[in-house]
Amino acid sequence: MKILVANIGSTSLKWRLFDFSNNAERLLHKGGFERVTDYPKAIEDCLADLKKANAIASESELSAVGFKTVIAKDVTGCVRLDDRVLQAMHDYNGLAPAHNPPYITGIKLFAQRMPKVPLIGLFETAFHQFAPEASQRYAVPDSWLKIGVRRWGFHGASHKFIAERSAELLKRLDVAESARQLYVHHGASKISGAPLRVISCHLGGSSSVTGILNGASIGTSMGMSPQSGLPHNNRVGDLDSEALPYAVKTLGISVEEAQKQLTKQSGLLGISGVSNDVRDIADAAAKGNASAKLALDVFVASTRHWIGSYFLQLNGADAIAFTAGTGENSASIRAAICANLENLGIKIDAEKNNVTRATETVISAADSAVKIFVIPTNEELVVAREAKRFLEANKN
Ligand code: AMP
Repeated sequence: MKILVANIGSTSLKWRLFDFSNNAERLLHKGGFERVTDYPKAIEDCLADLKKANAIASESELSAVGFKTVIAKDVTGCVRLDDRVLQAMHDYNGLAPAHNPPYITGIKLFAQRMPKVPLIGLFETAFHQFAPEASQRYAVPDSWLKIGVRRWGFHGASHKFIAERSAELLKRLDVAESARQLYVHHGASKISGAPLRVISCHLGGSSSVTGILNGASIGTSMGMSPQSGLPHNNRVGDLDSEALPYAVKTLGISVEEAQKQLTKQSGLLGISGVSNDVRDIADAAAKGNASAKLALDVFVASTRHWIGSYFLQLNGADAIAFTAGTGENSASIRAAICANLENLGIKIDAEKNNVTRATETVISAADSAVKIFVIPTNEELVVAREAKRFLEANKN
């Protein structure tokens, strides 16, 4: 069974092709295009690349195309991307303006190009759907909840990968299996051993921290939209609900302009005034740029805030895992996040932490009660596995 996972951006198309034949999981091919102006041609070129690499002879060999879809009204989990689901994604375009519109366009183009191949989406909200109600609910009236104003949470594929992989690294294969079967069991299954507590830090262009108990999310830093939680590359992160009407009135700007500033000119870019990329900001900070240093300090403080929240809720942690662009590559950010936590049993090993290429590593000191991991995420594999399970469960 071959499943293609397509990662759609507004001007990019990246893909990975997995083969699940003979009970194995093999990555057959990966590739991508940036600065795409003609999407139908990009899909055509992707298929041509797959054929050239002998990964497929024809697109009829594809059992499905999987997508890491973000959010849809009243839909989560792993679903077939039919007209109803596309409409539900469209209904929440406003919550994920950078993601939903290009995904809807891209999915429609894939459907036109290969009408016989099932298109399946694993929503980024799916991993958090079984979190306790208390961590999903905002303190708003019921009428707000009824229209979807609640914490949904995102980066679900990445946090699920961390849930599975961290359990394997901690030699808790029971929990790894429970995490793998999460959507089949509608939540974590009963674990006979001690509870396994992991805090997953997905730190990249977009960032979130999730508390994971026995392979399932108990809460996450992102809320109703991916604009919340930690500061992101150019998006604000958490903000007092009064700030928006106050800024609109006081700066004399429209709500749309204020939204644009919060989603495009805020976050690390907004504070640093330098860049939306941690590498550029760190370079500027090293040269004495105070705003750049402050941006990194705010990012580190916010990450610690959320780690602290889940450390308490989980009654400690067996592991903290770092993943995504910054989490996998920035030794200095990891060191700053883990500094001065010896009293909580969290101790980083400076030498082991000195990994700058994304490699799976244990970076905690030998006497650290909490293991600290760097785990390169593999969101596409999670999407492909769920798409495979969906196909098997819906054979007819
Ligand atoms: P992602 O969203 O996971 O693709 O992460 C992309 C982001 O990771 C970039 O925008 C950078 O801010 C950050 N990043 C990538 N490489 C490094 C690095 N070597 N050091 C610090 N941050 C990095």
